[in-house]
Amino acid sequence: MAIDPKTFIQDFRDLYLKSPQCGSWTRASENCDYGDIITVSKDCYMCFNSGNCRDAYYCEDSRALKNSVDCAYCEDCELCYECVDCNNCYDSNYCQDCSTSENIHFSYDLRRCKDCIGCVGLRDKQYYIFNKAHSPEAYAEALKTLDTSNPEIIRRIDLKSEELKRKIPRMFVHQFDTQNCTGDYIYHSKNAYQSFDTRHTEDSGYITQANLDRGTQNSWDCGPVPTGIDLSYDVSYSHFSFNCKHVYWAGDLKDCFYCTNCLESSNLFGCHYLKNKEDGYYILNQKVDSAFYTDMTKAIVRELDEKGIYTLHDLLHKNLNTDDVTPPHQERDRECTLCHESFSITDAEAKFYKEMKIKFSIYCPHCRATQRIALRNDRRMYKRQCDACKNNLITTYPPDSPYIVYCLDCWFKHIG
Ligand SMILES: [Zn+2]
Ligand SMILES: [Zn+2]
Repeated sequence: MAIDPKTFIQDFRDLYLKSPQCGSWTRASENCDYGDIITVSKDCYMCFNSGNCRDAYYCEDSRALKNSVDCAYCEDCELCYECVDCNNCYDSNYCQDCSTSENIHFSYDLRRCKDCIGCVGLRDKQYYIFNKAHSPEAYAEALKTLDTSNPEIIRRIDLKSEELKRKIPRMFVHQFDTQNCTGDYIYHSKNAYQSFDTRHTEDSGYITQANLDRGTQNSWDCGPVPTGIDLSYDVSYSHFSFNCKHVYWAGDLKDCFYCTNCLESSNLFGCHYLKNKEDGYYILNQKVDSAFYTDMTKAIVRELDEKGIYTLHDLLHKNLNTDDVTPPHQERDRECTLCHESFSITDAEAKFYKEMKIKFSIYCPHCRATQRIALRNDRRMYKRQCDACKNNLITTYPPDSPYIVYCLDCWFKHIG
């Protein structure tokens, strides 16, 4: 294939179609075939983006759950049902933003509580119903009538606890151990701007779900990313990237741009499904010399600018037959061309873009995050065959997906 800036976009898309996709990313786990991005787990069903779970069903974006069902953004919980953003809770149902509590039901923002129903904002309490103290005997009687299989009872409790929620003040953000951060659900971070569900993040902006031990440094528009992102932009579902832009589903990359499904490599531009390429320079999976790489990548970037390509999602999916290519402009206050909301480029962001040679986006941060998520499939499961070994596979790729889909073993075995 000749490398030509004029045909680069189509060549990149063609190469993507020919490159195997990983049908299911379930690693070091047992009996967790239904679900995706599951690690170190056992006997889970329909769980997504979760790790260290046992007997969890329909849980998403959670860690270390045991015997729990329908939970999201929870950690270290056991015997929990319909909980969101709870941690270290035991035998609790329909709770949100609660921690270190047990036997709590339909409650919001409780800490170190036991035996509560429909309570809001309590600390170190036991035997409370709708924020009123009860004797252990009266509480036990009330608990007997708490039939959660009866929708009418659930509706009445919801209404009453909602009344309480509106009366009781709550903290304006969920942050812990942060300095100078804006956004929500941020922990152990400094100078994180408009970031969400993020830990260990510093001097970065618009980061989502960077949530293991090493989060993100000096990066913008990244996430979900498990760990170790530095000096990067528009990177998602990837770990350990340094000085990378527009990367999806990758790991251990340095100085890579517009890549998917690549591992342990550096100096890749417009590549898919490569591994262990640290010996030179690659464009469209072809090895080139360093002078050619420098000149050609500059020419390709000019072409992408002219065609209105701002993100990896654009490069893969933008309709190029439309005339609405908005020319790049440098004003800091702008309107998103997708949702038409206005947004501004902050000083820190502008500085980062200048250093990283990134043009100001025509999309607002929310639409950019939505585009990164849209690179992945919906959280639905299908049965199909691995296109290499023909074994049965349970995957988010439907049988009629246009992509080549491999099981995890084949994906690793064949990646070159
Ligand atoms: Zn928008
Ligand atoms: Zn296979």
